[in-house]
Amino acid sequence: MHEIVINLHMHTRYSDGSGCHQDIAAAALKAGLDAVIVTDHNVLVRNMGGYITRDGHKLLMLIGEEIHDRDCDPQKNHLLVLGARSEMAHLAADPTSLIRSVRDAGGLSFIAHMTDPAAPAFHEPDISWEDWSVEGFTGLELWNGFSELKTLIPTKLHGLFFAFVPALVAHAPPADTLRKWDQLTRQSRVVAIGGSDAHALRMRMGPLRRMVFPYEFHFGAINTHVLIPEPLADREAQDEQRIYSSLSAGHCFVAYDRPFPTRGFRFTARGRDGEAIMGDEIGGAGGVTLQAILPSFAEIRLIRNGEVVQESRRAHALIHHAGKPGAYRVEAYRRYFGRRRGWIFSNPIYIR
Ligand SMILES: [Zn+2]
Ligand SMILES: [Zn+2]
Repeated sequence: MHEIVINLHMHTRYSDGSGCHQDIAAAALKAGLDAVIVTDHNVLVRNMGGYITRDGHKLLMLIGEEIHDRDCDPQKNHLLVLGARSEMAHLAADPTSLIRSVRDAGGLSFIAHMTDPAAPAFHEPDISWEDWSVEGFTGLELWNGFSELKTLIPTKLHGLFFAFVPALVAHAPPADTLRKWDQLTRQSRVVAIGGSDAHALRMRMGPLRRMVFPYEFHFGAINTHVLIPEPLADREAQDEQRIYSSLSAGHCFVAYDRPFPTRGFRFTARGRDGEAIMGDEIGGAGGVTLQAILPSFAEIRLIRNGEVVQESRRAHALIHHAGKPGAYRVEAYRRYFGRRRGWIFSNPIYIR
């Protein structure tokens, strides 16, 4: 498998971002990303996708959208829609039929920022996901680079502080999002992705004017690393298909790339059925050996159905002989700016 790094979930001037697609491409190339997925609010922006090459580096820009009901107040239930190829925003009022239509169109749907609390100092309401009657969605955005900020800014002064030191924001995915994901994966396969929700916002406070959380900052932070069977081949349609089919299968992990690069992380299983990677199912008869390899030393935990089954305070690998069925996933943490930070969150391997 070949690993590519994707930043997804971001906004341009087509919705409430301050930059354009070219700004995103320039920042992504500088950050060394392989692909970005732009998701403006309730609009599928056409003719902006494709390969961009600069100084020998290539970037694939894909276009999806983030759909929510504008008539709803507050506007809860944001859904990231990828690869559906047609406008779906008119279905926003009913998440169940929206998810079904996305699936019928061959697209992927991810519950965005499941936990997204209010930030009253900035007049931002709680826009967490609340419609749990839905089913059939591809997965959820486990870690969102912007909603975590809302938990840290009780006053405008706090907002100003984090605008100047954005690297202090990210700590970990919300605990209740992790808990809900673990519950869901006991019933069915639910893919976790990480999103930046980059807006390149412009902030004004008195005489101060500053772009806060520029695209470039986000592109080195919360990324989704995807394992694809063949390297990207500079063929847009084929490469898009490869990326979406791997995302749909859960062949990916969520990474906070600032503390230390996460390229090279692998979580695999070997049993009588052969080998499996993140997102796959494997038969448990005769036992399964799970193996996680980290690109550097870190605190590492193996979790089965939401319970820690093995952990190490400092290791660069973990091996576990699993005798029970369940959804097994790996979490790794590192210290960064004096605090413990989530670093790697794998998708589960499902032992039947
Ligand atoms: Zn949103
Ligand atoms: Zn968004």
